[in-house]
Amino acid sequence: MVAYKNSKEVELIRQSGQILSDTLAEVARFLRPGVTTAQVDELAESFIRSRGAVPSFKDYHGFPNATCISVNEEVVHGIPGPYIIQEGDIISVDVGVLKDGFHADSAYTFAIGPVRTEVMKLLLDTKASLYEGIAQARAGNRIGDISYAVQKYTEIDRGYGVVRELVGHGLGKKLHEDPQVPNYGKRGNGMKLREGLVIAIEPMINLGTREITYREDGWTVATRDGKPSAHFEHTVLVGNRGPELLSSFSRIEAEEAENPALNRDS
Ligand code: MG
Ligand code: MG
Repeated sequence: MVAYKNSKEVELIRQSGQILSDTLAEVARFLRPGVTTAQVDELAESFIRSRGAVPSFKDYHGFPNATCISVNEEVVHGIPGPYIIQEGDIISVDVGVLKDGFHADSAYTFAIGPVRTEVMKLLLDTKASLYEGIAQARAGNRIGDISYAVQKYTEIDRGYGVVRELVGHGLGKKLHEDPQVPNYGKRGNGMKLREGLVIAIEPMINLGTREITYREDGWTVATRDGKPSAHFEHTVLVGNRGPELLSSFSRIEAEEAENPALNRDS
């Protein structure tokens, strides 16, 4: 069942999304070689709580942390811990924020220091594919239009692997609601989009093949071929004037540009 949102509910999700985007901007400012993923998680959690919100992922189905931090070949659901971030790593940080009863969900992949050109391109292309998907999130279109736009940009046109097992989703009072939003599919297929639908669109794109494997920690999803994977996610409203972002990358990108430890060309 799909829970369409009224304007008051949309504003509450937008408020959670603002805190979430500010959290990822703090992460962008903090990231550098030598810090552990656990330290990144602690920073995010204390920032979220300082804004009177709660990290959605903490204890979600038993997940131990506030953020999912997935390094290099890890696709999603990485558990923050003692891993020390190094130059050349890519770090996907996925965060959920709950405030006043409504969740927002967003993710960003950061490049630490110089990364290989093909890996930097994977990040840029994955982010661009997210916006290709978002452009289709308009009333009258169907879920498959979003799915196809992401798959076309990444897999069909550029030869990346699109993960099949994990998908985007509706969200609001719950972190995961109907409908599912796959990153692959056919134009004109699936549920028709209606004003008031709020969905997380989240391409998970592999440099190599689309196959994944589950690590023994019970959470971490990694590429089977060991090649890097990128993940970008926005919370998006199907609005009366087309797609509307309820999360934002603008502060994250500003901090990213200011942080000398991020995104240097190799
Ligand atoms: Mg997420
Ligand atoms: Mg999500």
